[in-house]
Amino acid sequence: MVVAAGALAGVAGLAKVAPVDRDIVPLAGSSDLAAALVATTGVQADGIRTVHAVNPGGETVKLLQAEQLQAQYNFGQALKVAQDAYNVKQESIRQEQARLAAEAEARRPKCVRPAQGTFTSGFGARWGTSHNGIDIANAIGTPILSAMDGVVVEAGPASGFGLWVRVQHEDGTITVYGHVDTIVAFAGTKVKAGQQIATMGNRGQSTGPHLHFEVWAGGSTKINPLGWLAERGVQI
Ligand SMILES: [Zn+2]
Repeated sequence: MVVAAGALAGVAGLAKVAPVDRDIVPLAGSSDLAAALVATTGVQADGIRTVHAVNPGGETVKLLQAEQLQAQYNFGQALKVAQDAYNVKQESIRQEQARLAAEAEARRPKCVRPAQGTFTSGFGARWGTSHNGIDIANAIGTPILSAMDGVVVEAGPASGFGLWVRVQHEDGTITVYGHVDTIVAFAGTKVKAGQQIATMGNRGQSTGPHLHFEVWAGGSTKINPLGWLAERGVQI
């Protein structure tokens, strides 16, 4: 109705136009089309505002959704901050553990006395034969320790030794532990310096419970264990 009124006002001079056509032709031929369009827009805007006013529930839902989104964002941010702090703490703990492990490794002895007890026999000529190691006497069951880090290459029966354990070290040197009573670390076991590998015994050609300890330089040349141990800071 507003459109029709505006259009008619703008074409008041077109009196010869047939009444049947007035409702159509005046609008198309009008020089005031802009006014008609403004009026049309006004009607539509009123319509939107009306709908807006009678449906407040829609706005409430939108507000709630917006608040929920904001809450989710805030929660996400708080979670991220907490996660970042946790990660920093975990990294700090990991670094501290690595530092302590490195310190412990640095403090760990590289070479140890293979058994506690009394030094009873040295390396060299003895009773018309050659004694290829040293003897340390103590009670049966006394722990026998690997002198250095290495790998057990043999653990079992051996002629004259009763039972023995042989450990190969990084540089190829082999240490031999004879007359043992029981074996603790069998062939293939990686051992650390000071780790128990056997117990002291009296097996084989032995005159009493003791450890017979040999050092094979390069894996085969039997050398005086006292000098080898002394070079590594161990006095018997
Ligand atoms: Zn011996």
